[in-house]
Amino acid sequence: MPGPGPDIPACLQVALPVPLPRLFDYLPPESERATPALVGHRVRVPFGNRELVGVVAGIGPPGTDAGLRRASALPDAEPLFAGELLDSLRWLARYTHAPLGEVFATALPAPLRAGEPLPDTHAWAWTLTEAGATGRDGLRKAGRPHRLAALLAAGPVDEDRLEHELDGWREAARALARRGYAERIAVPAVARAPAPAPGPEPNPEQREAIDAIARAGGFAPLLLEGVTGSGKTEVYLHAIADCLARGRQALVLVPEIGLTPQTLARFRARLGVPVHALHSGLADGERARVWAAAWRGEARVIVGTRSAVFIPLPEAGLIVVDEEHDASYKQQDGIRYHARDFALVRGKALGVPVLLGSATPSLETLHNAQAGRYAHLRLRRRAGEARPPAVRVLDVRKRPLQAGLAPETLEAIGAALRDGGQVLVFKNRRGYAPVLLCHDCGWSAQCPRCSTPAQSTPLTVHAGGGRLLCHHCGHRQAKPLACPDCASLALQPQGIGTERLEELLAERFAGWPVLRIDRGTTQRRDGLARLLAELGDRPGILVGTQILAKGHDLPNLTRVVVVGVDEGLFSSDFRAGEKLAQQLIQVAGRAGRAQRAGEVWWQTHHPEHRLLHDLINGGYDSFARDELAQREAAGFPPFAHLALLRAEAQQAEAATAFLRAAKAALLDAADPAAPALDLHGPLTAPMPRRAGLYRMQLLLSSPSRPALHARLDAALPAIHALPEARRTRWSLDVDPVDL
Ligand code: ADP
Ligand code: ZN
Ligand code: ZN
Repeated sequence: MPGPGPDIPACLQVALPVPLPRLFDYLPPESERATPALVGHRVRVPFGNRELVGVVAGIGPPGTDAGLRRASALPDAEPLFAGELLDSLRWLARYTHAPLGEVFATALPAPLRAGEPLPDTHAWAWTLTEAGATGRDGLRKAGRPHRLAALLAAGPVDEDRLEHELDGWREAARALARRGYAERIAVPAVARAPAPAPGPEPNPEQREAIDAIARAGGFAPLLLEGVTGSGKTEVYLHAIADCLARGRQALVLVPEIGLTPQTLARFRARLGVPVHALHSGLADGERARVWAAAWRGEARVIVGTRSAVFIPLPEAGLIVVDEEHDASYKQQDGIRYHARDFALVRGKALGVPVLLGSATPSLETLHNAQAGRYAHLRLRRRAGEARPPAVRVLDVRKRPLQAGLAPETLEAIGAALRDGGQVLVFKNRRGYAPVLLCHDCGWSAQCPRCSTPAQSTPLTVHAGGGRLLCHHCGHRQAKPLACPDCASLALQPQGIGTERLEELLAERFAGWPVLRIDRGTTQRRDGLARLLAELGDRPGILVGTQILAKGHDLPNLTRVVVVGVDEGLFSSDFRAGEKLAQQLIQVAGRAGRAQRAGEVWWQTHHPEHRLLHDLINGGYDSFARDELAQREAAGFPPFAHLALLRAEAQQAEAATAFLRAAKAALLDAADPAAPALDLHGPLTAPMPRRAGLYRMQLLLSSPSRPALHARLDAALPAIHALPEARRTRWSLDVDPVDL
């Protein structure tokens, strides 16, 4: 780009957190010059009658010379975004087709987004000055300053410890400082870490994985596949220790539910450096401090949930994504990024290995591993003595169900309790709309226009149960009066909540504790841990929709019952089968972790279903092979690339009108030479109405990722400018996970 001429002053091209896909020109603040060194700096600018904090994205001549305003301040001495992080965030803005300013805002903790200064991250200690060490005239013997001075006489003491050892130490310290007897000094965080504790000797498979990571030497995607308890975390710990020994930083991403105090304690105890946690339970100020500590290179190990993928890593050495298949890595609003995918992009730009761990890898990741793009490391055995549980499929056709539970299931729960064991009753909950199921033969309503012998697409129940609807093609039909296969009248929408289950179990097994585990009961980060601690090893029942995470070990869990399997078998989401298989394997992994053998029961109307059959006979591998073949035949990811245009409005017609106009714009932008792009819709969203707004969607699908992005690039300016766009709330989701 040619620089500005001598008489046109260069201006700042600022990315602002506003939903407009462009940069904004500003003159630099008085006394500053617009030079390329300012790129990546935060900047305060007037915008309308507000002030916004943006990021300088470029320097150049103004686009127009009319009424250029002046930025009010550049708050940082150094840019917050530089090098790899700046480049990766630019990439993310292009990939998500989102405004760069919103991407920058998403990458910053709230206080930094609001323009607050980068917080102090030093640990501080107090020490005696020479004067204080030799004589301390004028201090009362019984006073706190005197006691503090006595403490410090043995050497510097950090503020954390003072907090524990002396009430009112702050005032005492100030008193000593005023007399010149003591001073505050910054201490490196590393100096305060516990000594590393040794772990178990890695087994040969773990050793192989650890060596493969060490050999990588630069960017390398590695899939570490192993069931829960097979020792994946041990491999992470060794790889992180190697990374620390090379003087580099490690980032570990964990799913929202996986960041338990127990996990952190394990990392802290083993690594011998401070471990910085970053998750939604932290106060904003604390998040900003962790971000700043990483930016300064002080944080050596960062363990965090989804948004931790935006942490600066000036001395990166390793990125780990634990439970890489977990849906919580996908951001569902704002900038709809996928933390695992973005971690891979960053790992490549940083030139460091990216280790993806899972017992049940996503089909995308497995496909990459099978194609040889990722190294595939496996841990086939459970570490220690744990034995795999036995799985039993219970056919519940024609059985009288109570809150979804068959009499045999209730029997089995009772038997496990009387045996002194614990029982987990897990309710699979996929999709929002219930599916119509015949309780006598297992028939379920399928879309005649979207189902093939290999891939069934269910109709979902709508309008108070009277109407059936296909989410893919919009096909509608009345609910049949009797089952078309067996003429039974026992047609029922499938879908029972956990509250009903809890109620029934509490009534039926009065005298045994029944704990419900869901968002409601585990809102607080340690809520679940406390519930479980309360239960201890006593026999009892856990009911929930959430899988217990690492660190929530239940050695006495001897039986797991899964209800609602069928909803996953016949969901309108093409990923439902994958999610169900993952859940079934993960939940089964919770049983029999100790010496006691575990038993897992799957309740279903479809004991012969391919998915259950695959899982039982060939495990997740066999399921994945079949499912990938079907995805390929049907043209679904990872063999096709998707983007979803969503619209919501007070009136369904407004949302539809927008999507129709957007579809026309996408068709207009077609390049006859490019690979085909399929447009499906507009259709009602799986959840057709939320918070009073009607929700519609348009699905874009192409076998070529570049072609999909090229078409979006070509059509989006026109879509933004549509008059219909002003009457609806719309968003674009590239690689959507919930269709
Ligand atoms: P995962 O992360 O795959 O669930 P972990 O790394 O947490 O597995 O290991 C499960 C349990 O087995 C932990 O208690 C761990 O200390 C233990 N463990 C892991 N590797 C070994 C090993 N090589 N020898 C003995 N115990 C091990
Ligand atoms: Zn029937
Ligand atoms: Zn259909």
